[in-house]
Amino acid sequence: MARTAWVGGNWKCNGTTESIKTLGEVFNGTSFDKKKLNVVIFPTAIHYSTARQALNEQYELGSQNVSKTKNGAFTGEVSAEMLKNMNVPWTLVGHSERRTLYHETDADTAVKTKIALEHGIEVCLCIGETLEEREAEKTNEVCSRQIDACVEAISDWNKVVIAYEPVWAIGTGKVASQQQAQDAHEAIRAHIAKKVSQEVADKVRIVYGGSVSDANCEGLIQMKDIDGFLVGGASLKPAFVDIIKAVKAARA
Ligand code: PEP
Repeated sequence: MARTAWVGGNWKCNGTTESIKTLGEVFNGTSFDKKKLNVVIFPTAIHYSTARQALNEQYELGSQNVSKTKNGAFTGEVSAEMLKNMNVPWTLVGHSERRTLYHETDADTAVKTKIALEHGIEVCLCIGETLEEREAEKTNEVCSRQIDACVEAISDWNKVVIAYEPVWAIGTGKVASQQQAQDAHEAIRAHIAKKVSQEVADKVRIVYGGSVSDANCEGLIQMKDIDGFLVGGASLKPAFVDIIKAVKAARA
């Protein structure tokens, strides 16, 4: 089954009005067919409108986080209602930096996934094991647990992209090998087939994240269960367009 490729650019807590304008000029210089490839940029909430103005309509935008609570007395939060009201089509949920630095639990990711989907916001659900868990051969167990936590919350699998991001590969320059990434993606797809259905497993997009760069993306995108990437550091550089081009070429 042909799945539409997906590439996300997670800008994390970075950016200035000037740097976003400059990146926009570079990103806008490449073109791709949105029917074959979706590219979603995740700026900080405060930079959202700056990014929207800088990037042309090929690019979708998303939030790096969504509150698990509604509007109200929740200082510092951005609710799903607000994302919907501002026409923000995507959100990340469960990024490892949220899980580790801000102590978000599997239960939190489930609530956030549910509330985002209920408001019509598509979700990029991030999962992945730590180095310790990989060394203990618990990669598949951890990914399955993180997915299982959200299965009940997912009302529409067409609106969900799974980002497999081994924690040891995020921001470290240590990318997973093509085989390590393929093995994990295949296991995630098999788990979804068992827990949800073969139909959903066949169509859900599973993208790889963790030190993806213009130098390693061509090999990774050849793997049969890898449908694209969630890119951190390299999405803040002009070379992000080379990643877009590599995915576009692989899906031509
Ligand atoms: C990420 O932030 O999701 C990520 C994968 O970061 P990096 O590409 O920098 O490893």
